[in-house]
Amino acid sequence: MDFQVIKTATEKLKQSLVSNVNHQCQLCHCDTPLSQQWVCTTCERELPFSPAACITCAAPLKSSSDRQCGQCLINPPSLDRLITCFDYLYPINKWLPAFKFSRQTALAPWLANHLANSIINRSYTNIDQDNPNGFENQNLKTNALTKKNSEENGLTFNNLKNSNLKNSYLENHLPLMPEAIIAVPLHGKRLKQRGYNQSELIAKQLSRLLGIPLLTDAVIRTKKTEAQSGLSLKQRQSNILQAFQVSQNLPAHIALVDDVFTTGSTLNELSRKLKLAGCEFTQGWVIAHAPLA
Ligand SMILES: [Zn+2]
Ligand SMILES: [Zn+2]
Repeated sequence: MDFQVIKTATEKLKQSLVSNVNHQCQLCHCDTPLSQQWVCTTCERELPFSPAACITCAAPLKSSSDRQCGQCLINPPSLDRLITCFDYLYPINKWLPAFKFSRQTALAPWLANHLANSIINRSYTNIDQDNPNGFENQNLKTNALTKKNSEENGLTFNNLKNSNLKNSYLENHLPLMPEAIIAVPLHGKRLKQRGYNQSELIAKQLSRLLGIPLLTDAVIRTKKTEAQSGLSLKQRQSNILQAFQVSQNLPAHIALVDDVFTTGSTLNELSRKLKLAGCEFTQGWVIAHAPLA
């Protein structure tokens, strides 16, 4: 057997054992119930959750009644919506690189669970008014929302050929659940080096939690780009241009999953390609927002 395969399997086993046996909060090291894995409820409250921000680029807003920043109003990006869960601050800025580069893949369920909550809370702003007592249990809430979503998707997205309709869909805060999820792919060579695609691990969990299919063959990364970190906005845009090849006959509404959102160059380029191939509405679902330094 390939040495790498054995190494990966051993790592996975080690991680799953650690995540199932360790009852200590990863931040304050207090004993914490198994169900809370990773951090205790006290530390949980201190995590750097993303504040309300521009719905298409996550930039801070001037007024709490605004939904989009001035830049996105003047020059709308291809990505129609963006949901980020955390700001890229401690401890997220320690955990995400470990998850991405150091095989800390046991973090995937925890990260995805938090992102799923952000998605639900931001996509269904009125859900608690609809049924104030019905959603104390998170699983129930997820199931109810998935059902509500599939009914409303049927009504709305089949008719989404016209941009006025699309705008009113956004304006009215209607539930926005996609028909499919796609993880931002890695180039084949990078995938081989790393052994896994961190975004796909998150996307798999989201697919399970939200009951939305994950498309694994819809996009391939044809260009081995330089790492985006350390590049300016312009460099990022040209670096990522034409990096993806997408299949045809895509669903009308797709959510793209990634680990970090900085300038949005990657998600916007992928969204642009998906729209050329027939997709009409795209969302970005991202663990953390890191403003360009
Ligand atoms: Zn703690
Ligand atoms: Zn914006």
